[in-house]
Amino acid sequence: MSRFASGVVVLSVGEPHVHAMTANAFGSVSLDPPLVQCCVAHTAVMHDSLTRSRSFGVSILGAGQEPLARYFADKSRPLGLPQFDGISWTPGPLTGAPLLPGALAWLECKLVESYVAGDHSLFLGEVLASATGDGEGALLFYAGRFERTQAS
Ligand SMILES: Cc1cc2nc3c(=O)[nH]c(=O)nc-3n(C[C@H](O)[C@H](O)[C@H](O)COP(=O)(O)OP(=O)(O)OC[C@H]3O[C@@H](n4cnc5c(N)ncnc54)[C@H](O)[C@@H]3O)c2cc1C
Repeated sequence: MSRFASGVVVLSVGEPHVHAMTANAFGSVSLDPPLVQCCVAHTAVMHDSLTRSRSFGVSILGAGQEPLARYFADKSRPLGLPQFDGISWTPGPLTGAPLLPGALAWLECKLVESYVAGDHSLFLGEVLASATGDGEGALLFYAGRFERTQAS
């Protein structure tokens, strides 16, 4: 699967279970209703946060946001709100999930279903709101490395 090039997102959950993590197991599922999916390891703090919160935010990272992708995948980051110290974010108006400025697009989702899938769970989210940013180049993950598209 490392030969499958993907985009990179930061999944986030608002108070009281505030947390964020980098993911690339993310994708579109349905247009009507609008559904997306993400897969999260059972061992991840995010698994419990997302299950309890029943809602989540998605920031689709742009070409210049590799440092954020690395940070939210770094197990040495603090838990809870302190993990956002020094990072700019705004609460999603519907879910309170932290959304990252400069992203290519943002989604706010309501958790509608989850399925145990091996050592991960597949979370199905209904998109409540979406918006796009100004960036053009995308951050990619391919063959274990971050890459970027050319901004047109
Ligand atoms: C490009 C890329 C794509 C990825 N895609 C995915 C994906 O699709 N799905 C996926 O599941 N992972 C994915 N990962 C991995 C994921 O981003 C990292 O494993 C990330 O660290 C997981 O966050 P977490 O919620 O598990 O928090 P963790 O990193 O496990 O923990 C966050 C903080 O909490 C602390 N902590 C943990 N447990 C406790 C505890 N019980 N008490 C006190 N402190 C604790 C940790 O020490 C750390 O400081 C991806 C990584 C990269 C780089």
